[in-house]
Amino acid sequence: MSLHDIGEFGLIEQLRRSVRQGPGVKIGIGDDCAALEVPAGELLLVTNDLLLENVHFRRDWIDLADLGAKSVAVNLSDIAAMGGVPRYLVLGLGLPSSLTLGEIDRFLEGFLGEATANEVSLVGGDTCRAEQFLSVSVTAHGTIPASELVRRKGGRPGDLLYVSGELGGSGLALCQLEAGQKPEPSLACRHFRPRARLSLGRALASRGLVTSMIDLSDGLLADLHHLLAGDSLGAVLYLDKMPVSEAFDRVTARRPEWRNLVFNGGEDYELLFTVPEQQRLEVEKLSEEFDVRITEVGKVKKGGKPVDVLDAAGNPVSVAAAGFRHF
Ligand code: ADP
Ligand code: MG
Repeated sequence: MSLHDIGEFGLIEQLRRSVRQGPGVKIGIGDDCAALEVPAGELLLVTNDLLLENVHFRRDWIDLADLGAKSVAVNLSDIAAMGGVPRYLVLGLGLPSSLTLGEIDRFLEGFLGEATANEVSLVGGDTCRAEQFLSVSVTAHGTIPASELVRRKGGRPGDLLYVSGELGGSGLALCQLEAGQKPEPSLACRHFRPRARLSLGRALASRGLVTSMIDLSDGLLADLHHLLAGDSLGAVLYLDKMPVSEAFDRVTARRPEWRNLVFNGGEDYELLFTVPEQQRLEVEKLSEEFDVRITEVGKVKKGGKPVDVLDAAGNPVSVAAAGFRHF
């Protein structure tokens, strides 16, 4: 059976049957709109990410279940970066006729698996035929008490700069694929199955430990610029403190030109945040509570040259600044 046989409405009916109506969902899939609850006094957070075949992913490289899960995770990562709780998902699909029903099932399996794992409900969407390439558009809705909202803006000179997890692994897997190599499983996992740092983001926000935060989708340097933009702030980064995995070290020992991916590899989906010095201990304690590396990688300073990367001796080194750019 193909998509042509079951049709748009057959697929939507199948979706409706496989989705459990989660908390806060008054009306989910099946009406003209979803009707959703927002806790009294909280703000609604809304974010969307597009994943386009041959722009963001290649169908011959990614398993459709991974694509489904990733399309959820990259959106939840934005909710994490505001400190919010994710609640509802809306899924837009452009489906080429070359896609089999089995592939669509795998996509939905990955999508709904990741949604369930994060206690988020799929509440609606749109499904259309696409000429040639698969396109996926996901909108995530989250909520947050207004007083706990963490923005990109808000870091102050003297604040410490932290990142969660490890950097560069996703970008390295992509470079290896582009070079015709098979990435090590741990690196492939970083690229194909990112996880949003939701509980860490929530704790940093609700405990008032951070002055600003962003999730790393375009690369450390590019996203750091977003964090500092508009406030005439600068930063220093400590080259020897950058958190990387053993696999990253092993692969880049053979290919030193790939080490820069720590700074400009995309799709890490880790959190980058600024912390007033007096909160240092409390932030570092979260590492054990949430079983995640939390690394002090630099410091915010007043204006001047936007970002200085310093070696172990404190001397500036040059790093190519380009993050992922579409245009
Ligand atoms: P309309 O024509 O009013 O947009 P549709 O026939 O497109 O309605 O959709 C019917 C129902 O199915 C709606 O509740 C819509 O949100 C849901 N829906 C359609 N496509 C998807 C999808 N890809 N994922 C989740 N829900 C979907
Ligand atoms: Mg529609």
